[in-house]
Amino acid sequence: MGRKVEKSEEEWKRELDAEQYRVLREKGTEAPFTGKHYETRMAGTYVCAGCGKELFVSGDKFDSGCGWPSFARPAGEVEERRDLSQGMVRTEVLCPDCGGHLGHVFEDGPKPTGLRYCINSASLKFRPRE
Ligand code: FE
Repeated sequence: MGRKVEKSEEEWKRELDAEQYRVLREKGTEAPFTGKHYETRMAGTYVCAGCGKELFVSGDKFDSGCGWPSFARPAGEVEERRDLSQGMVRTEVLCPDCGGHLGHVFEDGPKPTGLRYCINSASLKFRPRE
């Protein structure tokens, strides 16, 4: 299955910083409470740090206390995949356009969605509303 944005690992390594590469391409997780968008409250859009696809909007961001940026829903399409790694059953969230790892979605979010998209800051770039 092809993706809209396909690059070699060498290209990704060149374009992303080390932490972005580790999270997006190697499914890493940033340490909690350390990411640069954990406490971002400005109005705007969060796009994929790998390919620029719009993924989340500030109006859906909420303070979950979990240490990572948390959203009640995605802005549009995201890819979700069952993840059995690390002895847990989780749902991984990926960018549909470049396949980059974003984080996981859990069913303990606020109403009405009941969802918490728990997303690494390193996977996101913030574009403030103009
Ligand atoms: Fe992407």
